[in-house]
Amino acid sequence: MAKYIASIDQGTTSTRCILFDHDGAIAAQAQMEHEQIFPKSGWVEHNPEEIWHNTRQVCADALVKLDAATSDVAAVGITNQRETAVVWDKTTGKSIYNAIVWQDTRTQRICDELAGDKGADIYKDKVGLPLATYFSGPKVRWILDNVDGAREKAEAGDLLFGNMDTWVLWNLTGGTDGGKHYTDVTNASRTLMMDLDTLQWDDDIVKDMGIPKSMLPEIHSSSEEYGKVRERGPLAGVPIAGILGDQQAATFGQVCFEVGTAKNTYGTGNFVLLNTGEEKVMSKNGLLTTVCYKIGDKKPIYALEGSVAVTGSLVQWLRDNLKMIDSAPQVEDYAKEVDDNGDVYIVPAFSGLFAPHWRPDARGVIVGLTRFNNRSHICRAALEATAFQSREVVDAMNADSGVALTELKVDGGMVVNETLMQFQADILGVPVIRPVVSETTALGAAYAAGLAVGFWKDEGELRKQWAEDKRWEPKMDKDKVKWLYSKWNKAVQRTLDWTD
Ligand code: ADP
Repeated sequence: MAKYIASIDQGTTSTRCILFDHDGAIAAQAQMEHEQIFPKSGWVEHNPEEIWHNTRQVCADALVKLDAATSDVAAVGITNQRETAVVWDKTTGKSIYNAIVWQDTRTQRICDELAGDKGADIYKDKVGLPLATYFSGPKVRWILDNVDGAREKAEAGDLLFGNMDTWVLWNLTGGTDGGKHYTDVTNASRTLMMDLDTLQWDDDIVKDMGIPKSMLPEIHSSSEEYGKVRERGPLAGVPIAGILGDQQAATFGQVCFEVGTAKNTYGTGNFVLLNTGEEKVMSKNGLLTTVCYKIGDKKPIYALEGSVAVTGSLVQWLRDNLKMIDSAPQVEDYAKEVDDNGDVYIVPAFSGLFAPHWRPDARGVIVGLTRFNNRSHICRAALEATAFQSREVVDAMNADSGVALTELKVDGGMVVNETLMQFQADILGVPVIRPVVSETTALGAAYAAGLAVGFWKDEGELRKQWAEDKRWEPKMDKDKVKWLYSKWNKAVQRTLDWTD
């Protein structure tokens, strides 16, 4: 009897392989970071070959740690940084350009052209998203327009597009030798090209984007057997049976299966997802409508999403660009040295502002500085920026759904930061709850794969595995919260209209 599900989590900063046992506990894991490439202001790239190499390596390393055999692994699940786009040549298996990462803003001109007089919501009724640089479609268009010979090759049927899930799946299942060119509904729902009702590519939008349809992967459910690992090595022959974009995977891993349940993931950016069930709720408040998951041939489950581009990456920026801290956890050490932010606010609009503003022209600010302020205030303001941005999207969610959130389940790299978690509970006015397994992204993909192969029976069995680790109750005086939030909103106003 196989004992584990292997989950490949191809994230923005690193790639992990985690082996989960039948109780949903982590048995072993391995992780490798990859290079963040910033060729120009606003451009962010990854090397797809490096990522594929790391994927193979972390899978091997995780299995070695347990001394596990192939027969011990029942299935593989894949979860991934969403929207990041790769275009490769199907005859050589090599990418023709670096992967263009979700945070990259180079496609603003393409988005403006597509929007024309109709504005950024031109496709929103069909795809649930505003036209924004965040999503994959315009990134693929940019590669076809800017890489020598790409368009001719694409029209000849030689090029394939995929988000990271597709790139990893295609390579795992044999690459040039019969690799499966598939994606799942959650990843497809982030391209700006999938119709949320039919769960198929929309021919008109694909045509507008100028992308030959032969480049697009086949859209599948999030939980079914897509193929077997063809690669020689420790996972050879194991079925790949789950694919979910990272935020949807975290929602699944947090067992947000009921309508009205929500989670917030604190990673490079922050992402709040609210399960809206079989109903596709269209936001009036700047949120995205997206597919939450689809299990085999069951009906799709939808979600409302509030995406914030920069949260944990602001901490990285303090570390790498300002050299104000030596490591990410140090931000809390400094933040704790002061009682408050000293009236300093940081709005990290590095990629413009995402939800609920969707202002590509916004640029970051640090406001309220006096001679009194020091590094501790800046560190505190950086953490508070994460909490304020999450409050903005939760407010939008409450307005769209008409029901106020009563608690927030959290996960991701930043939730070890207790100062942030307490401030988040204070600013939201609801309890913030961290589960025992904080690797919910990888767990969600494992769950999707395990359900498909019968490793777990049903969602009910998964629900029983969720366990609370810690809870933060709101403590701050309500008037103070109101005052702080009004100052935050003033700071946000300062970021707008900076770009000419
Ligand atoms: P992703 O999956 O997006 O790659 P992770 O969930 O691994 O991200 O989270 C990494 C992020 O969390 C980084 O941006 C890092 O700056 C931030 N981070 C890690 N530890 C801490 C900490 N103790 N306090 C604040 N931020 C942290």
